[in-house]
Amino acid sequence: MTKTIHIIGAGLAGSEAAWQAANMGVQVVLHEMRPHVETPAHETDQCAELVCSNSFRSDDADHNAVGLIHQEMRTLNSIIMQEGDKAAVPAGGALAVDRDIFSAGVTKALTDHPLITIEHGEITAIPDDWDNVIIATGPLTSDAMAKTIADLTGEKELAFFDAIAPIVHAESINMDIAWFQSRYDKAEGAGTGKDYINCPMTKAQYETFIHELTNAEYGLFKEWELPSGAPTLEEREIDTPYFDGCMPIEIMAARGPETLRFGPMKPVGLTNPHKPDNEQPYAVVQLRQDNALGTLFNIVGFQTKMKWGEQTRVFKMIPGLENAEFARLGGLHRNTFINSPKVLDENLRLKSRPHIRFAGQITGCEGYIESASIGLIAGRMAARDALGASFKKPPLTTALGALLNHVTGGANAETFQPMNVNFGLFPVPENPYQIMPNGKRKKLRGKDRKKCYTDRARIDLAHWIRNNRQEEEAA
Ligand SMILES: Cc1cc2nc3c(=O)[nH]c(=O)nc-3n(C[C@H](O)[C@H](O)[C@H](O)COP(=O)(O)OP(=O)(O)OC[C@H]3O[C@@H](n4cnc5c(N)ncnc54)[C@H](O)[C@@H]3O)c2cc1C
Repeated sequence: MTKTIHIIGAGLAGSEAAWQAANMGVQVVLHEMRPHVETPAHETDQCAELVCSNSFRSDDADHNAVGLIHQEMRTLNSIIMQEGDKAAVPAGGALAVDRDIFSAGVTKALTDHPLITIEHGEITAIPDDWDNVIIATGPLTSDAMAKTIADLTGEKELAFFDAIAPIVHAESINMDIAWFQSRYDKAEGAGTGKDYINCPMTKAQYETFIHELTNAEYGLFKEWELPSGAPTLEEREIDTPYFDGCMPIEIMAARGPETLRFGPMKPVGLTNPHKPDNEQPYAVVQLRQDNALGTLFNIVGFQTKMKWGEQTRVFKMIPGLENAEFARLGGLHRNTFINSPKVLDENLRLKSRPHIRFAGQITGCEGYIESASIGLIAGRMAARDALGASFKKPPLTTALGALLNHVTGGANAETFQPMNVNFGLFPVPENPYQIMPNGKRKKLRGKDRKKCYTDRARIDLAHWIRNNRQEEEAA
Protein backbone atom coordinates (compact mmCIF):
# COMPACT_ATOMS: atom_id res chain seq x y z
CA MET A 1 0.00 0.00 0.00
CA THR A 2 1.33 3.48 -0.90
CA LYS A 3 1.47 6.14 1.74
CA THR A 4 -0.95 8.58 0.04
CA ILE A 5 -4.58 8.71 1.09
CA HIS A 6 -7.05 10.19 -1.41
CA ILE A 7 -10.03 11.80 0.29
CA ILE A 8 -12.96 12.80 -1.90
CA GLY A 9 -14.97 15.73 -0.52
CA ALA A 10 -13.61 18.55 1.67
CA GLY A 11 -16.73 18.89 3.78
CA LEU A 12 -16.99 18.35 7.53
CA ALA A 13 -15.93 14.70 7.32
CA GLY A 14 -13.30 14.92 4.57
CA SER A 15 -11.58 17.90 6.21
CA GLU A 16 -11.42 16.17 9.59
CA ALA A 17 -10.22 12.90 8.03
CA ALA A 18 -7.43 14.72 6.15
CA TRP A 19 -6.28 16.53 9.31
CA GLN A 20 -6.21 13.37 11.41
CA ALA A 21 -4.38 11.28 8.81
CA ALA A 22 -1.82 13.99 8.05
CA ASN A 23 -1.12 14.47 11.74
CA MET A 24 -0.28 10.78 11.91
CA GLY A 25 2.42 11.41 9.33
CA VAL A 26 0.62 10.28 6.18
CA GLN A 27 0.44 12.21 2.89
CA VAL A 28 -3.12 13.22 1.95
CA VAL A 29 -4.66 14.53 -1.26
CA LEU A 30 -8.03 16.12 -0.52
CA HIS A 31 -10.26 16.40 -3.61
CA GLU A 32 -13.06 18.97 -3.63
CA MET A 33 -15.26 19.66 -6.64
CA ARG A 34 -16.31 23.18 -5.58
CA PRO A 35 -16.08 25.80 -7.07
CA HIS A 36 -15.87 24.01 -10.47
CA VAL A 37 -18.97 21.93 -9.76
CA GLU A 38 -21.49 23.28 -7.25
CA THR A 39 -23.98 21.52 -4.97
CA PRO A 40 -27.51 22.92 -4.54
CA ALA A 41 -26.71 24.05 -0.97
CA HIS A 42 -23.04 25.12 -0.76
CA GLU A 43 -22.22 28.74 -1.57
CA THR A 44 -18.43 29.01 -1.23
CA ASP A 45 -15.27 27.17 -2.25
CA GLN A 46 -14.18 26.76 1.39
CA CYS A 47 -13.55 23.51 3.21
CA ALA A 48 -16.10 22.41 5.84
CA GLU A 49 -18.78 24.84 4.72
CA LEU A 50 -21.87 24.78 6.96
CA VAL A 51 -24.76 24.57 4.51
CA CYS A 52 -27.56 25.56 6.87
CA SER A 53 -27.59 26.29 10.61
CA ASN A 54 -24.42 27.63 12.29
CA SER A 55 -24.92 25.42 15.36
CA PHE A 56 -22.96 22.37 16.47
CA ARG A 57 -25.77 21.85 19.02
CA SER A 58 -25.33 21.18 22.74
CA ASP A 59 -21.90 21.62 24.25
CA ASP A 60 -22.89 20.00 27.55
CA ALA A 61 -20.45 17.10 27.85
CA ASP A 62 -22.00 15.87 31.10
CA HIS A 63 -25.61 15.40 30.08
CA ASN A 64 -25.82 15.37 26.29
CA ALA A 65 -24.44 12.87 23.79
CA VAL A 66 -23.63 15.65 21.29
CA GLY A 67 -21.74 17.61 23.96
CA LEU A 68 -19.92 14.40 24.85
CA ILE A 69 -18.83 13.79 21.26
CA HIS A 70 -17.57 17.42 21.11
CA GLN A 71 -15.41 16.71 24.13
CA GLU A 72 -14.12 13.41 22.74
CA MET A 73 -13.23 15.09 19.45
CA ARG A 74 -11.42 17.92 21.26
CA THR A 75 -9.43 15.29 23.16
CA LEU A 76 -8.46 13.74 19.83
CA ASN A 77 -7.23 17.03 18.37
CA SER A 78 -10.16 17.59 16.00
CA ILE A 79 -9.71 20.43 13.51
CA ILE A 80 -13.49 20.92 13.32
CA MET A 81 -13.69 21.44 17.08
CA GLN A 82 -10.51 23.52 17.23
CA GLU A 83 -11.76 25.96 14.59
CA GLY A 84 -15.33 25.75 15.92
CA ASP A 85 -14.13 26.86 19.36
CA LYS A 86 -12.13 29.72 17.82
CA ALA A 87 -15.17 30.90 15.81
CA ALA A 88 -17.71 30.49 18.66
CA VAL A 89 -20.52 33.03 19.02
CA PRO A 90 -22.82 33.34 22.08
CA ALA A 91 -25.48 30.59 21.98
CA GLY A 92 -26.32 29.58 25.56
CA GLY A 93 -25.40 25.96 26.18
CA ALA A 94 -24.87 25.27 22.48
CA LEU A 95 -21.73 25.71 20.42
CA ALA A 96 -22.59 28.01 17.53
CA VAL A 97 -20.01 29.50 15.21
CA ASP A 98 -19.43 32.35 12.81
CA ARG A 99 -19.61 30.20 9.69
CA ASP A 100 -17.17 32.27 7.62
CA ILE A 101 -14.50 32.42 10.32
CA PHE A 102 -15.00 28.71 10.96
CA SER A 103 -14.65 27.53 7.34
CA ALA A 104 -11.78 29.95 6.66
CA GLY A 105 -9.99 28.59 9.75
CA VAL A 106 -10.39 24.97 8.63
CA THR A 107 -9.33 25.82 5.07
CA LYS A 108 -6.20 27.64 6.27
CA ALA A 109 -5.18 24.86 8.66
CA LEU A 110 -5.50 22.25 5.91
CA THR A 111 -3.81 24.40 3.26
CA ASP A 112 -0.88 25.15 5.58
CA HIS A 113 -0.38 21.52 6.56
CA PRO A 114 2.79 20.21 4.88
CA LEU A 115 1.29 16.76 4.28
CA ILE A 116 -2.04 17.90 2.78
CA THR A 117 -2.63 18.91 -0.84
CA ILE A 118 -6.06 20.24 -1.81
CA GLU A 119 -7.03 19.58 -5.44
CA HIS A 120 -10.16 21.16 -6.86
CA GLY A 121 -12.19 19.15 -9.39
CA GLU A 122 -15.00 16.63 -9.45
CA ILE A 123 -14.04 13.00 -8.98
CA THR A 124 -16.34 10.81 -11.02
CA ALA A 125 -14.63 7.43 -10.63
CA ILE A 126 -11.94 5.91 -8.41
CA PRO A 127 -8.66 5.62 -10.38
CA ASP A 128 -7.08 2.16 -10.28
CA ASP A 129 -3.85 3.43 -8.74
CA TRP A 130 -5.55 4.89 -5.65
CA ASP A 131 -5.21 2.19 -3.06
CA ASN A 132 -6.30 4.04 0.08
CA VAL A 133 -9.44 6.08 -0.52
CA ILE A 134 -12.03 7.81 1.66
CA ILE A 135 -15.30 8.82 0.03
CA ALA A 136 -16.75 11.74 2.02
CA THR A 137 -18.93 13.35 -0.63
CA GLY A 138 -21.84 13.96 1.72
CA PRO A 139 -25.61 14.17 1.35
CA LEU A 140 -25.28 16.10 -1.93
CA THR A 141 -22.79 13.80 -3.65
CA SER A 142 -22.45 14.72 -7.34
CA ASP A 143 -24.52 12.65 -9.76
CA ALA A 144 -21.51 11.06 -11.45
CA MET A 145 -19.99 10.04 -8.12
CA ALA A 146 -23.36 8.71 -6.94
CA LYS A 147 -23.45 6.51 -10.02
CA THR A 148 -19.95 5.20 -9.22
CA ILE A 149 -20.97 4.50 -5.63
CA ALA A 150 -24.12 2.70 -6.80
CA ASP A 151 -21.92 0.52 -9.03
CA LEU A 152 -19.65 -0.23 -6.07
CA THR A 153 -22.34 -0.96 -3.49
CA GLY A 154 -25.18 -2.20 -5.68
CA GLU A 155 -27.94 0.22 -6.63
CA LYS A 156 -30.33 -0.94 -3.92
CA GLU A 157 -27.85 0.01 -1.19
CA LEU A 158 -27.65 3.70 -2.13
CA ALA A 159 -30.51 6.03 -1.15
CA PHE A 160 -31.16 9.52 -2.52
CA PHE A 161 -33.67 10.53 0.13
CA ASP A 162 -33.97 9.68 3.76
CA ALA A 163 -37.41 8.73 5.00
CA ILE A 164 -37.12 8.77 8.72
CA ALA A 165 -39.71 7.43 11.09
CA PRO A 166 -39.39 8.70 14.67
CA ILE A 167 -37.21 6.62 16.98
CA VAL A 168 -38.16 6.20 20.62
CA HIS A 169 -36.04 5.27 23.65
CA ALA A 170 -37.41 1.85 24.64
CA GLU A 171 -37.37 2.60 28.35
CA SER A 172 -39.74 5.56 27.87
CA ILE A 173 -42.53 3.35 26.44
CA ASN A 174 -45.36 2.57 28.87
CA MET A 175 -45.52 -1.23 28.86
CA ASP A 176 -48.60 -1.17 31.11
CA ILE A 177 -50.42 -0.18 27.91
CA ALA A 178 -48.18 -1.51 25.15
CA TRP A 179 -47.04 -5.11 24.72
CA PHE A 180 -44.52 -7.21 22.79
CA GLN A 181 -45.95 -9.38 20.00
CA SER A 182 -45.37 -10.07 16.31
CA ARG A 183 -48.46 -10.31 14.12
CA TYR A 184 -49.87 -13.85 14.40
CA ASP A 185 -46.93 -14.55 16.77
CA LYS A 186 -44.82 -15.27 13.69
CA ALA A 187 -41.23 -16.10 14.62
CA GLU A 188 -39.43 -15.64 11.31
CA GLY A 189 -35.68 -15.25 10.77
CA ALA A 190 -34.09 -13.91 13.95
CA GLY A 191 -37.57 -13.25 15.39
CA THR A 192 -39.08 -14.73 18.52
CA GLY A 193 -42.77 -14.04 17.83
CA LYS A 194 -42.52 -11.10 20.25
CA ASP A 195 -40.53 -8.71 18.11
CA TYR A 196 -42.75 -5.62 17.96
CA ILE A 197 -44.04 -3.27 20.63
CA ASN A 198 -47.75 -2.68 20.01
CA CYS A 199 -49.68 0.40 21.08
CA PRO A 200 -53.47 -0.09 20.89
CA MET A 201 -56.09 2.52 19.98
CA THR A 202 -59.84 2.62 20.47
CA LYS A 203 -62.06 3.97 17.68
CA ALA A 204 -62.31 7.36 19.38
CA GLN A 205 -58.55 7.55 19.93
CA TYR A 206 -57.91 6.60 16.29
CA GLU A 207 -60.28 9.22 14.93
CA THR A 208 -58.80 11.97 17.09
CA PHE A 209 -55.30 10.87 16.07
CA ILE A 210 -56.14 10.96 12.34
CA HIS A 211 -57.69 14.40 12.76
CA GLU A 212 -54.60 15.77 14.51
CA LEU A 213 -52.27 14.09 12.02
CA THR A 214 -53.97 15.56 8.99
CA ASN A 215 -54.31 19.01 10.54
CA ALA A 216 -50.77 19.33 11.92
CA GLU A 217 -48.15 21.73 10.55
CA TYR A 218 -45.77 20.32 7.96
CA GLY A 219 -42.50 21.37 6.40
CA LEU A 220 -42.15 21.67 2.64
CA PHE A 221 -39.52 20.25 0.36
CA LYS A 222 -37.02 22.73 -1.01
CA GLU A 223 -37.25 23.20 -4.76
CA TRP A 224 -33.90 21.53 -5.42
CA GLU A 225 -34.90 18.48 -3.39
CA LEU A 226 -37.61 17.65 -5.89
CA PRO A 227 -36.59 15.62 -8.90
CA SER A 228 -37.03 17.50 -12.18
CA GLY A 229 -40.58 17.28 -13.46
CA ALA A 230 -41.99 16.80 -9.96
CA PRO A 231 -45.03 18.76 -8.85
CA THR A 232 -44.83 22.20 -7.25
CA LEU A 233 -43.66 22.82 -3.70
CA GLU A 234 -47.20 23.17 -2.44
CA GLU A 235 -48.16 19.71 -3.66
CA ARG A 236 -46.36 17.60 -1.13
CA GLU A 237 -47.52 14.31 -2.52
CA ILE A 238 -44.66 13.48 -4.82
CA ASP A 239 -45.26 10.78 -7.35
CA THR A 240 -41.70 9.69 -7.92
CA PRO A 241 -39.76 6.45 -7.69
CA TYR A 242 -37.56 8.06 -4.99
CA PHE A 243 -40.43 7.69 -2.59
CA ASP A 244 -41.45 4.13 -3.32
CA GLY A 245 -42.15 2.43 0.00
CA CYS A 246 -41.61 5.55 2.09
CA MET A 247 -44.85 7.47 1.71
CA PRO A 248 -45.23 10.01 4.52
CA ILE A 249 -47.78 8.94 7.11
CA GLU A 250 -49.75 12.19 6.72
CA ILE A 251 -50.09 11.65 2.97
CA MET A 252 -51.50 8.19 3.60
CA ALA A 253 -53.88 9.56 6.25
CA ALA A 254 -55.09 12.29 3.89
CA ARG A 255 -56.15 9.64 1.37
CA GLY A 256 -58.98 8.60 3.64
CA PRO A 257 -59.68 8.08 7.34
CA GLU A 258 -59.41 4.28 7.06
CA THR A 259 -56.20 4.14 4.99
CA LEU A 260 -53.86 3.76 7.97
CA ARG A 261 -56.11 1.17 9.61
CA PHE A 262 -55.65 -0.94 6.49
CA GLY A 263 -51.96 -0.05 6.27
CA PRO A 264 -49.32 0.34 9.00
CA MET A 265 -51.93 0.62 11.78
CA LYS A 266 -53.91 -2.50 10.96
CA PRO A 267 -54.98 -4.26 14.17
CA VAL A 268 -54.89 -7.83 12.87
CA GLY A 269 -53.02 -10.79 14.34
CA LEU A 270 -52.53 -9.10 17.72
CA THR A 271 -54.00 -9.80 21.14
CA ASN A 272 -53.76 -7.20 23.86
CA PRO A 273 -52.67 -9.01 27.07
CA HIS A 274 -53.80 -6.00 29.13
CA LYS A 275 -57.41 -6.72 28.06
CA PRO A 276 -58.19 -10.20 29.40
CA ASP A 277 -61.77 -9.91 28.10
CA ASN A 278 -60.24 -10.19 24.60
CA GLU A 279 -61.26 -6.64 23.65
CA GLN A 280 -59.75 -6.01 20.22
CA PRO A 281 -57.92 -2.76 19.47
CA TYR A 282 -59.46 -0.67 16.67
CA ALA A 283 -56.01 0.23 15.37
CA VAL A 284 -52.44 -0.53 16.45
CA VAL A 285 -49.21 1.43 16.16
CA GLN A 286 -46.21 -0.89 15.99
CA LEU A 287 -42.63 -0.16 16.98
CA ARG A 288 -39.75 -2.23 15.70
CA GLN A 289 -36.35 -2.71 17.34
CA ASP A 290 -33.89 -0.32 15.73
CA ASN A 291 -30.51 -1.34 17.15
CA ALA A 292 -28.88 -4.55 18.31
CA LEU A 293 -28.76 -3.26 21.89
CA GLY A 294 -32.57 -3.10 21.97
CA THR A 295 -32.52 0.40 23.45
CA LEU A 296 -34.22 2.08 20.46
CA PHE A 297 -37.46 1.33 18.61
CA ASN A 298 -38.77 3.02 15.44
CA ILE A 299 -42.46 3.65 14.81
CA VAL A 300 -43.18 1.44 11.83
CA GLY A 301 -44.32 3.30 8.71
CA PHE A 302 -44.41 6.69 10.42
CA GLN A 303 -41.98 8.61 8.20
CA THR A 304 -43.21 12.18 8.16
CA LYS A 305 -42.58 15.79 7.23
CA MET A 306 -44.53 17.06 10.22
CA LYS A 307 -42.74 19.89 12.05
CA TRP A 308 -40.75 18.64 15.04
CA GLY A 309 -42.87 20.25 17.76
CA GLU A 310 -45.96 18.84 16.10
CA GLN A 311 -44.48 15.34 15.95
CA THR A 312 -43.88 15.33 19.70
CA ARG A 313 -47.41 16.57 20.32
CA VAL A 314 -49.18 14.22 17.91
CA PHE A 315 -47.13 11.06 18.52
CA LYS A 316 -47.47 11.40 22.30
CA MET A 317 -51.22 10.94 21.72
CA ILE A 318 -50.48 7.30 20.89
CA PRO A 319 -51.42 5.21 23.95
CA GLY A 320 -48.21 3.92 25.52
CA LEU A 321 -46.14 6.76 24.08
CA GLU A 322 -47.55 9.51 26.31
CA ASN A 323 -44.12 9.90 27.99
CA ALA A 324 -42.07 8.88 24.97
CA GLU A 325 -38.58 10.27 24.67
CA PHE A 326 -37.55 10.56 21.05
CA ALA A 327 -34.00 9.63 20.06
CA ARG A 328 -34.82 11.26 16.76
CA LEU A 329 -37.89 12.70 15.08
CA GLY A 330 -39.08 11.86 11.61
CA GLY A 331 -38.14 13.59 8.39
CA LEU A 332 -37.81 13.34 4.63
CA HIS A 333 -34.94 15.09 2.89
CA ARG A 334 -32.70 14.85 -0.10
CA ASN A 335 -29.83 12.83 1.30
CA THR A 336 -27.41 10.48 -0.41
CA PHE A 337 -26.39 7.64 1.90
CA ILE A 338 -25.37 4.01 1.69
CA ASN A 339 -26.67 1.05 3.64
CA SER A 340 -23.55 1.05 5.81
CA PRO A 341 -24.51 -1.78 8.21
CA LYS A 342 -24.77 -4.00 5.14
CA VAL A 343 -21.99 -2.87 2.82
CA LEU A 344 -19.25 -1.64 5.19
CA ASP A 345 -17.04 -3.62 7.53
CA GLU A 346 -16.34 -2.49 11.08
CA ASN A 347 -13.47 -0.33 9.82
CA LEU A 348 -15.75 1.69 7.50
CA ARG A 349 -14.33 -0.17 4.48
CA LEU A 350 -16.43 -1.37 1.61
CA LYS A 351 -16.61 -5.13 2.12
CA SER A 352 -16.27 -5.73 -1.62
CA ARG A 353 -13.36 -3.23 -2.08
CA PRO A 354 -11.53 -2.84 1.23
CA HIS A 355 -9.22 -0.10 -0.07
CA ILE A 356 -12.26 2.22 -0.20
CA ARG A 357 -13.64 3.71 3.01
CA PHE A 358 -16.64 5.94 3.55
CA ALA A 359 -16.94 8.82 6.00
CA GLY A 360 -19.45 11.50 6.97
CA GLN A 361 -23.12 11.76 6.32
CA ILE A 362 -22.96 9.33 3.40
CA THR A 363 -22.37 6.55 5.96
CA GLY A 364 -25.77 7.26 7.51
CA CYS A 365 -24.80 9.41 10.44
CA GLU A 366 -26.63 12.72 10.58
CA GLY A 367 -25.38 16.20 11.46
CA TYR A 368 -22.27 18.36 11.15
CA ILE A 369 -20.60 16.96 14.24
CA GLU A 370 -21.54 13.35 13.64
CA SER A 371 -20.21 13.63 10.07
CA ALA A 372 -16.96 15.15 11.30
CA SER A 373 -16.60 12.48 13.99
CA ILE A 374 -16.91 9.64 11.49
CA GLY A 375 -14.36 11.55 9.39
CA LEU A 376 -12.06 11.65 12.41
CA ILE A 377 -12.24 7.88 12.84
CA ALA A 378 -11.96 7.16 9.09
CA GLY A 379 -8.87 9.38 8.80
CA ARG A 380 -7.17 7.58 11.67
CA MET A 381 -8.14 4.17 10.27
CA ALA A 382 -6.83 5.02 6.79
CA ALA A 383 -3.59 6.38 8.27
CA ARG A 384 -3.03 3.20 10.29
CA ASP A 385 -3.56 1.18 7.08
CA ALA A 386 -1.02 3.35 5.27
CA LEU A 387 1.44 2.80 8.11
CA GLY A 388 0.86 -0.96 7.98
CA ALA A 389 -0.63 -1.02 11.48
CA SER A 390 -3.99 -2.13 12.81
CA PHE A 391 -6.56 0.20 14.34
CA LYS A 392 -8.33 -0.38 17.64
CA LYS A 393 -11.82 1.07 17.57
CA PRO A 394 -12.99 3.38 20.36
CA PRO A 395 -15.10 1.49 22.90
CA LEU A 396 -18.85 1.23 22.40
CA THR A 397 -19.35 3.13 25.66
CA THR A 398 -17.85 6.32 24.15
CA ALA A 399 -19.85 8.60 21.87
CA LEU A 400 -17.42 8.01 19.00
CA GLY A 401 -17.55 4.25 19.49
CA ALA A 402 -21.33 4.15 19.86
CA LEU A 403 -21.92 6.10 16.63
CA LEU A 404 -19.31 4.09 14.71
CA ASN A 405 -20.89 0.86 15.93
CA HIS A 406 -24.33 2.05 14.89
CA VAL A 407 -23.41 2.78 11.28
CA THR A 408 -21.21 -0.27 10.84
CA GLY A 409 -23.53 -2.93 12.16
CA GLY A 410 -25.35 -1.94 15.34
CA ALA A 411 -28.28 -0.58 13.32
CA ASN A 412 -30.79 -2.78 11.59
CA ALA A 413 -29.77 -2.88 7.90
CA GLU A 414 -33.38 -3.49 6.81
CA THR A 415 -34.62 -0.19 8.24
CA PHE A 416 -31.38 1.79 8.18
CA GLN A 417 -31.90 5.57 8.09
CA PRO A 418 -29.59 8.44 9.08
CA MET A 419 -29.05 8.90 12.81
CA ASN A 420 -27.76 11.58 15.20
CA VAL A 421 -25.60 10.59 18.13
CA ASN A 422 -27.76 9.93 21.23
CA PHE A 423 -27.61 7.87 24.42
CA GLY A 424 -29.83 5.19 22.88
CA LEU A 425 -26.80 4.07 20.84
CA PHE A 426 -24.83 3.29 24.01
CA PRO A 427 -25.14 0.16 26.13
CA VAL A 428 -27.18 0.95 29.26
CA PRO A 429 -24.72 1.50 32.17
CA GLU A 430 -24.55 -1.47 34.49
CA ASN A 431 -25.35 0.53 37.55
CA PRO A 432 -27.62 3.49 36.82
CA TYR A 433 -28.73 3.59 40.48
CA GLN A 434 -28.16 5.84 43.45
CA ILE A 435 -27.92 4.44 46.98
CA MET A 436 -30.38 6.34 49.18
CA PRO A 437 -29.77 7.20 52.89
CA ASN A 438 -32.07 4.30 53.83
CA GLY A 439 -29.81 1.94 51.89
CA LYS A 440 -32.33 1.34 49.11
CA ARG A 441 -31.37 1.69 45.45
CA LYS A 442 -33.14 4.37 43.45
CA LYS A 443 -33.13 4.18 39.66
CA LEU A 444 -31.38 7.26 38.31
CA ARG A 445 -33.40 9.42 35.95
CA GLY A 446 -32.91 12.48 33.78
CA LYS A 447 -29.62 14.32 34.18
CA ASP A 448 -28.26 11.93 36.83
CA ARG A 449 -28.76 8.99 34.51
CA LYS A 450 -27.09 10.80 31.59
CA LYS A 451 -24.12 11.59 33.81
CA CYS A 452 -23.63 7.82 34.30
CA TYR A 453 -23.16 7.50 30.53
CA THR A 454 -20.77 10.42 30.22
CA ASP A 455 -18.64 9.54 33.28
CA ARG A 456 -18.20 6.02 31.93
CA ALA A 457 -17.40 7.36 28.45
CA ARG A 458 -14.65 9.62 29.76
CA ILE A 459 -12.96 6.81 31.67
CA ASP A 460 -13.19 4.42 28.73
CA LEU A 461 -11.92 6.97 26.20
CA ALA A 462 -8.91 7.70 28.42
CA HIS A 463 -8.13 3.95 28.61
CA TRP A 464 -8.46 3.62 24.86
CA ILE A 465 -6.11 6.53 24.22
CA ARG A 466 -3.57 5.17 26.71
CA ASN A 467 -3.66 1.66 25.17
CA ASN A 468 -3.29 3.03 21.64
CA ARG A 469 -0.36 5.19 22.68
CA GLN A 470 1.39 2.20 24.27
CA GLU A 471 0.84 0.15 21.11
CA GLU A 472 2.15 2.91 18.86
CA GLU A 473 5.23 3.35 21.02
CA ALA A 474 5.88 -0.39 21.03
CA ALA A 475 5.58 -0.61 17.20
C1 LIG B 1 -29.50 21.25 2.82
C2 LIG B 1 -28.90 20.61 4.02
C3 LIG B 1 -28.96 21.26 5.25
C4 LIG B 1 -28.38 20.69 6.38
N1 LIG B 1 -28.43 21.37 7.55
C5 LIG B 1 -27.81 20.87 8.64
C6 LIG B 1 -27.80 21.61 9.85
O1 LIG B 1 -28.34 22.69 9.93
N2 LIG B 1 -27.16 21.07 10.92
C7 LIG B 1 -26.53 19.87 10.86
O2 LIG B 1 -25.94 19.45 11.86
N3 LIG B 1 -26.54 19.14 9.72
C8 LIG B 1 -27.15 19.61 8.60
N4 LIG B 1 -27.18 18.88 7.44
C9 LIG B 1 -26.67 17.51 7.44
C10 LIG B 1 -25.14 17.28 7.36
O3 LIG B 1 -24.66 17.26 8.65
C11 LIG B 1 -24.35 18.23 6.59
O4 LIG B 1 -24.75 18.11 5.28
C12 LIG B 1 -22.80 17.97 6.69
O5 LIG B 1 -22.18 18.97 5.97
C13 LIG B 1 -22.37 16.61 6.21
O6 LIG B 1 -20.96 16.52 6.23
P1 LIG B 1 -20.18 15.69 5.11
O7 LIG B 1 -18.76 15.97 5.27
O8 LIG B 1 -20.63 14.29 5.13
O9 LIG B 1 -20.71 16.32 3.73
P2 LIG B 1 -20.46 17.80 3.19
O10 LIG B 1 -20.13 18.72 4.28
O11 LIG B 1 -21.61 18.10 2.30
O12 LIG B 1 -19.16 17.62 2.32
C14 LIG B 1 -19.14 16.86 1.14
C15 LIG B 1 -18.21 17.56 0.17
O13 LIG B 1 -18.01 16.71 -0.95
C16 LIG B 1 -18.00 17.51 -2.11
N5 LIG B 1 -18.29 16.62 -3.24
C17 LIG B 1 -19.48 16.02 -3.55
N6 LIG B 1 -19.32 15.23 -4.62
C18 LIG B 1 -18.02 15.34 -5.00
C19 LIG B 1 -17.26 14.76 -6.05
N7 LIG B 1 -17.78 13.91 -6.92
N8 LIG B 1 -15.94 15.08 -6.16
C20 LIG B 1 -15.36 15.96 -5.28
N9 LIG B 1 -16.05 16.53 -4.28
C21 LIG B 1 -17.37 16.21 -4.13
C22 LIG B 1 -19.02 18.58 -1.83
O14 LIG B 1 -18.82 19.71 -2.62
C23 LIG B 1 -18.79 18.86 -0.35
O15 LIG B 1 -17.86 19.87 -0.14
C24 LIG B 1 -27.75 19.42 6.29
C25 LIG B 1 -27.72 18.76 5.07
C26 LIG B 1 -28.28 19.34 3.94
C27 LIG B 1 -28.21 18.62 2.64
